[in-house]
Formats: sequence, structure tokens, C-alpha cells
Amino acid sequence: MKILVAGGAGYIGSITTERLIKAGADVVVFDNLYQGHRDAVHPQAGFVQGDLADKTAVESAIATHKPDGVMHFASYTLVGESMTQPFLYLRDNVMNGLNLMEAAVKHGVKGFILSSTANLFDDPERIPIAETERIVPGSPYGESKHILERNLHWMDRLYSMKYACLRYFNACGASAERGEDHDPETHLIPLVLDVALGQREKIAIFGDDYDTPDGSCVRDYIHVIDLAEAHILAMQALLDGGESRKYNLGNGRGFSVKEVIQTAREVTGHPIPAEAGPRRPGDPDILIASSETINQELGWRPQFPELRQIIETAWNWHQANPNGYEK
Ligand code: UDP
Repeated sequence: MKILVAGGAGYIGSITTERLIKAGADVVVFDNLYQGHRDAVHPQAGFVQGDLADKTAVESAIATHKPDGVMHFASYTLVGESMTQPFLYLRDNVMNGLNLMEAAVKHGVKGFILSSTANLFDDPERIPIAETERIVPGSPYGESKHILERNLHWMDRLYSMKYACLRYFNACGASAERGEDHDPETHLIPLVLDVALGQREKIAIFGDDYDTPDGSCVRDYIHVIDLAEAHILAMQALLDGGESRKYNLGNGRGFSVKEVIQTAREVTGHPIPAEAGPRRPGDPDILIASSETINQELGWRPQFPELRQIIETAWNWHQANPNGYEK
């Protein structure tokens, strides 16, 4: 299969590209390199530097490479930022995604995969969260993904382009060659590992008075390689003539912020000082996915469900690349 990966220089996109190539796919990465890194792109992948806001560039990439499938990872992804800069999300994420969809339907792309999010489920009624949970976006970020999911519904109905929306919970971990390198970094695991590397003094625990066993937030940490494999299975199903679908993707288990820090201490041998501070606005107590549907329909199950394995892979990458992709 030939796949165009929009955002293939970013964290999840670059590792999915690596796994696609390992699985024998032909891959072209389309990325503006605002947040992604050229060095993260697998050397066997084609590369087009371009912006999804540029309709001509997107269309030309699709017309030239004629992919069977498109995977869309390229977007703004921070809940907190979306509360202060909503237009980046409600306009740019939506418009950029639509430009990609329009080019895809125009050139007969058969399968489209959207990186969606657990932020569709603010204040869920049931944990673990199944696909039947009502959608209540928790921020303009979540809303932008909800709108794109709806847009894909129309792409299928009007143009028969089949799609899968994969709602990720907390992506983490690394492959041997690729890992998480955001600027600024806001995610818990890389920040904790920065402390172990001596690049930060301590980690702040954002609230220890939540309604959880140890008072800190519980999240579903899912290894990035497991996410990548879910993309490949979902794309194969679409290209084999399967119907459009939406899946919640997580480990099925929750770990608290304090458990993450404690496990990182054990993995790194560093004391990792931590200090409880105020809550971060918008954080619910517990988010855990039910990935039963993708397990039953595609046979997907996480290969790296243990927090220790997740942190070990991230630690190996951070130790080997203490400055990320910057040489
Ligand atoms: N968190 C924290 N300290 C930090 C960064 C994150 O306590 O310096 C908490 C955050 O409140 C959340 C969990 O760690 O409960 C995971 O946050 P992250 O930003 O990694 O992912 P998100 O859940 O926002 O996608």
C-alpha cells in the first residue's frame, strides 16, 4: 500500500511511518516542520515539505504521489493552548484537515485515518470510556477533532472515502530510533525524564486532591508503537473494503501521575524530586479507554501495556538523544 502521512515528522506520525515501512508500505511524508523534525522522517520515506494550509501544495502532493491511503497527524494538539488560542484549533485544524480531505477525495484516496482524541469525552459517564460515550469536547482542541470526525462522515457519504477516527488517550514511549521531542514540552513522561537527565530541577504534580486513590490524576498511557500498529491495521481494513469506523485507543488501564513519577524513579535510578502544585485547568480526575471494539473488530491489543516498559523505551531514547533531534 502507498500511504501519505501528513505530520510524518512529528512524534506519532514519524513512528507510524517507521512501522509502515517495516510492514512493507510505500510512504510519503507531508510536513511543514513547524513542530516536526526532518531527522525524524524515516530515510526510506519520501518527503514533501509543505503546509496543509496551502491547498495547492496539498493537492499537488496527492496528485503526484497518488496514495491509496492518507493518515492525518498534522495538527495543533495542546488542550491548554487551545483554551487561549482557540482560532488555531477551531479554524486552522479544521481548515487544514478539510484541505487534506478535499485533495484526497478529488484524487480517489480510498482510506483516510484521522488522529482524534480522548478530549472528545469531557466528564464521561462511564469509565472505561467506550465509543458509545456521548461526545462532549473538553476544549477547542477536542472540538476541532469532533468537527473533523463529522466532516469525514460526509466524505464517506458523498464520495465513498472510507475513514477511521482513532481517539488516542495518552500517547507515550519511543521506538529505538524515534521519540518525543516537543518545544515547549508539556507532557508528563518526557518532563519527568528531563528531571532524570538533569535538565530540570523537579516535576510539578498538577493537583493531588483529585478523587483518585492517591489524589493525582489517572490517565491511560498507551505506547506509541501500539498506536502505530492500530493505524496500520485500520488502514488495511479500509483498503480491504471495510466500512468506516471510530475507535477509542488506550491501554485499558490507568496510572496516576504519582505512579508515573515513581516508576520513572525506578527505571532511571534518579530521585526525581516532585512537588504538588495547583490543578491544571480542564483536567478530569480519571480518563481510561475501553479498546474492546478495535480488539474485537481488528484483533488489536497493546504489546507494551506495562508502565515500566513504556517508561523504559522513552528513557532509552531520551538518554541517547538528550537534546532531542537537535544535534
Ligand atoms: N501533569 C503533571 N505535571 C506536569 C505535566 C502533566 O502533573 O508537569 C499531569 C497532567 O495534569 C495530567 C497528566 O499529567 O493529569 C498527563 O498530562 P499530559 O500533559 O502528559 O497529557 P494530557 O493528559 O494533557 O494529554
